[in-house]
Amino acid sequence: MKAISKVFETEEVETHALKNIDLIIRSGDYVSISGPSGCGKSTLLSILGLLDLPTGGEYLIEGVNTSELSLDETAELRNSKIGFIFQSFNLIDELSVSDNVALPLQYSTQKFSMEEINKRVTRCLDMVEMSHRMSHKPNQLSGGQQQRVAIARALVTDPAILLVDEPTGNLDSSSGDKVMAIIDHLNQNGTTICMVTHDPRYADKAKTKLKLLDGTITQEEALRKAI
Ligand code: ADP
Ligand code: MG
Repeated sequence: MKAISKVFETEEVETHALKNIDLIIRSGDYVSISGPSGCGKSTLLSILGLLDLPTGGEYLIEGVNTSELSLDETAELRNSKIGFIFQSFNLIDELSVSDNVALPLQYSTQKFSMEEINKRVTRCLDMVEMSHRMSHKPNQLSGGQQQRVAIARALVTDPAILLVDEPTGNLDSSSGDKVMAIIDHLNQNGTTICMVTHDPRYADKAKTKLKLLDGTITQEEALRKAI
């Protein structure tokens, strides 16, 4: 990211959510983002995840200038490279656990066979220890279990980058620790992680720690240099 800014304009007010953000995230990095409520953390993740566009600056992914992509190309890049995990899980209550996890494959422009879909769904649910709840509906699960299903859903497309917004915000500490152990494990296996968290215990696990204040990076600490 080079000089990224984001201004939200409503009828009355202009909010400068991000101001002049310069940021390099290397493949395999583990970045934590913390800062007070309203400082721009979720806005930054949305732009990183191609869910929203900046109002200024340049954002390149593997050398591709994302502002030059069409809407379809943007969606394709997002679907193939990026996984999302949110504080509120965002599972669909009407669908079973396995159908929730399969959803990103059904939306993908790449066509997957039924067999491939089943294989991936089973593998991802195994990874988060939720295969025994495949046919359950999300509201029949605990918060920690729902978040693990949401992680399986994020992983089913094999994303290179995982964007995580306060994953433990709605969880008790032991469920939160379990979710964090899965995220740590994914990074050890090469997934690039960018995670918003309020919890200093979890932020400390990152290799690069960012502090945001009023839309600006005020502190960047590289604990172990990613190569
Ligand atoms: P954080 O995640 O750090 O709590 P956000 O990135 O959600 O903060 O928000 C940063 C600022 O941008 C806040 O002042 C918020 O009110 C504003 N904001 C976020 N999204 C919108 C939007 N869609 N429209 C207008 N203002 C927004
Ligand atoms: Mg937020």
